Amino acid sequence: MFSPVMQPAAYSSPRKVWRATPPPFPILTLDERKLTPALGYLFSAKWIDPCESLVTILWKFEKANALPGHVAALLMGADIDPYGGVAPQAGVIDIRRLRDTLNVPLKILHGSLLVPSQRRRYSKLFRYCRCCLARGYHSVLHQIDGVDVCPAHRRPLETACRRCGYEAPYVLSVRFLDAPYRCADCRAGYSHKVFSVLSSQRMKKDERIAMNRLYFRRYFG
Ligand SMILES: [Zn+2]
Ligand SMILES: [Zn+2]
Repeated sequence: MFSPVMQPAAYSSPRKVWRATPPPFPILTLDERKLTPALGYLFSAKWIDPCESLVTILWKFEKANALPGHVAALLMGADIDPYGGVAPQAGVIDIRRLRDTLNVPLKILHGSLLVPSQRRRYSKLFRYCRCCLARGYHSVLHQIDGVDVCPAHRRPLETACRRCGYEAPYVLSVRFLDAPYRCADCRAGYSHKVFSVLSSQRMKKDERIAMNRLYFRRYFG
């Protein structure tokens, strides 16, 4: 038979127990080891086009997850100073760490990095095509010394911000990553269009062919 005297203290206020229901939304907890929230980040390898650089891979990642630059910077390697930054170069960036968070194959991540050689040098400044950036895309090919026009659009590559003239070093730092698709100095957009991962278009077939053709000429020719 029920006896109120025998009830443990926790049951003395049954209404309190019933109120302890889960919240209607998940609470994200940060897994310090993997630097990912327990429920994972939003990213898809399908968002990456051929010869895409790590710059726009990380900018897309930030835009999709509304993340500040320092979170993306920390993904590049445990020993990297995120504020000083590094050139996104093979052997410098920890692509396994990136793969664990972005869930993108190592081959694609390796292809997003600079691989300097005797015959191939890269610009120390960020060089961009406004048309490519309007789609959210920047390529390692845009960084190669001697490539002065975008292979896809035949437009001259630019280094300076059109509003303030600032030329960003090709260094992935918190400052650079904190301004996706914008000048890190004055925050003006690099392109005429504000990029969104939800509305971006894939690379057209002829553009894809042009990028691949230049890639094979510069890397294997
Ligand atoms: Zn272009
Ligand atoms: Zn500017």
